[in-house]
Amino acid sequence: MLADFARQRAVPSRDVTYIAGRNINYTNVCWVGCKFCAFYDTPASKKGYTLPREVIFQKIQEMVDLGGIEILLQGGLNPKLKIDYYEELFSAIGEKFPQVWIHGLSVAEILYIAKISRLSLEETLVRLRAAGLRTIPGAGAEMLVDRVRKVIAPYKDTTTEWLDTMKLWHKLGGFSTVTMMYGTVETTDERLEHMLATREAQDESLANTTGGFTAFIAWNFQPDGTPLGDEIRAQNPHWRKATGYDYLRTVAVGRLMLDNIPHHQASWVTQGPKIAQIALGFGLDDFGSTMMEENVVSAAGTDFVMPISEIERLIREAGHDACKRDTLYRRV
Ligand code: SF4
Repeated sequence: MLADFARQRAVPSRDVTYIAGRNINYTNVCWVGCKFCAFYDTPASKKGYTLPREVIFQKIQEMVDLGGIEILLQGGLNPKLKIDYYEELFSAIGEKFPQVWIHGLSVAEILYIAKISRLSLEETLVRLRAAGLRTIPGAGAEMLVDRVRKVIAPYKDTTTEWLDTMKLWHKLGGFSTVTMMYGTVETTDERLEHMLATREAQDESLANTTGGFTAFIAWNFQPDGTPLGDEIRAQNPHWRKATGYDYLRTVAVGRLMLDNIPHHQASWVTQGPKIAQIALGFGLDDFGSTMMEENVVSAAGTDFVMPISEIERLIREAGHDACKRDTLYRRV
């Protein structure tokens, strides 16, 4: 009830927004080896892919034909792709599809592009933005607690690196989202630590910059087919994936703790449509993207894809009005 109250205070009305978009995973080549990830192939395996530009264009065209406006463009940390690859790709997308919003990359990808291109982080962000990157998804935040990060993704960026990259993007006037993947090895206190770190970063960005986090998105770890799932189950045969009930409590606490982030998004891809519907009464005001394609979570055995009509039906039947939005949560 309190979370719903906080949601009404932040976003008054019974509207629930969603965006028509699609995921494009431009490469699955990645050396980082996060233990929760079932999506990547290592550079040495030679089984990985990098999508040819025509395939990326074809996917965008399919989305545009269905009324989509946003591509969530993400991949792995591929040692062959330096900043010029991204600049050329983003510019080419911008020329061919000027109406399409590139919501792309992740902090880990951006830090790596800077490193292998021998650029400062700021220069990298400025150049990516100039080429057409418009917002950065909050993927890769996982749990912003270094103890947990060292267990689940020992070679990925630290909490400070993740937050500093986002704060710098905000300083440049950019917007991004922030996620939380719970249900691995973290304690409840560590979930709160993640939320507090996010809250402080957002306070800082709101006070000192023109950018900030637009939305908070939580989901639980999907263990199937991942080394981390096998490891946790081997250590504790009674371990269970976090429940839908846990999800509802977590997103409700998220809304209360992160009342400086305006939008809180349901993750129907991981929770399934029913829990996502119920979560609309637990502080959430957004149903995310139609996600014509989802390779990362589906690689871990969770596979939901939803057309616009179905998203609208689910929102309506949960007692809300469905509204189409853009990436900055403006009604379209
Ligand atoms: S989560 Fe991202 S960075 Fe980690 S292994 Fe998977 S693709 Fe690579």
